[in-house]
Amino acid sequence: PGWGTDSTLSLSGVSFRYPDAAKDTFALQDIGFTAQGMEKIAIVGRSGSGKSTMMNLLAGFNQPASGAHISLDGHDLTSFNQPQWQDSMSYIPQEPYIFSASIADNIRFYVPDASDAAVAAAADQAGLTDWLGQLPDGLATMIGEGQRGISGGQGQRIALARVLLDSRRKILLFDEPTAHLDIETEYALKQTLVPLFADHLVIFATHRLHWLPAMDQIIVLENGRISEQGRLSDL
Ligand code: ATP
Ligand code: MG
Repeated sequence: PGWGTDSTLSLSGVSFRYPDAAKDTFALQDIGFTAQGMEKIAIVGRSGSGKSTMMNLLAGFNQPASGAHISLDGHDLTSFNQPQWQDSMSYIPQEPYIFSASIADNIRFYVPDASDAAVAAAADQAGLTDWLGQLPDGLATMIGEGQRGISGGQGQRIALARVLLDSRRKILLFDEPTAHLDIETEYALKQTLVPLFADHLVIFATHRLHWLPAMDQIIVLENGRISEQGRLSDL
């Protein structure tokens, strides 16, 4: 079970309106695309075009308006709130959720019983080692509400470490996972991420165009609608 090389996900007529938005103002309108196997799909578009709304919908947090057709391996889904989808997916939201606990326990989010060595390896791959070396308690340092504050980029790298710790989840939903990182840190992480992408379905919202050559399909959003779609060479 779960997502495999022959799996297909197909969406058509997917729209979404925030409950407090004006009556006819949709944040997503009539979205359709198909994702297959271990494809790499970029979602691009200007600020406010609907990328995060789309990622939240794919992660099961935003329920599509009526009229949507979503099918997973030919079976209709009403939303992405289905165990078969949720259990095979890792989601890095634009502002990752950091809870009040040690850095190590934050990294163990998907794998509560991961060993210290596995956590340290994931932290290293996510580029956290230099920062951890500056902390008195390293991975045992308490962060989150009422604890030590962390930067946006540190939060994103913790979220990446969570995903790297559980690479068995075949679907990766990333919402601008490198937005807070300087370009050197981002290029270093890219060396880790691109090989990881090879055996995953990746849906990646980004502003940074240097990711696009590594992608199989690019979806350009404009005011909640798809304005262009295809391979980079076709756009
Ligand atoms: P960015 O590149 O800045 O992250 P984005 O493409 O991710 O932008 P979204 O966050 O999906 O854009 O926002 C799409 C539209 O929906 C915007 O007009 C935004 O103002 C609106 N919107 C986003 N979140 C909410 C919300 N919780 N309630 C109402 N409207 C929202
Ligand atoms: Mg966004």
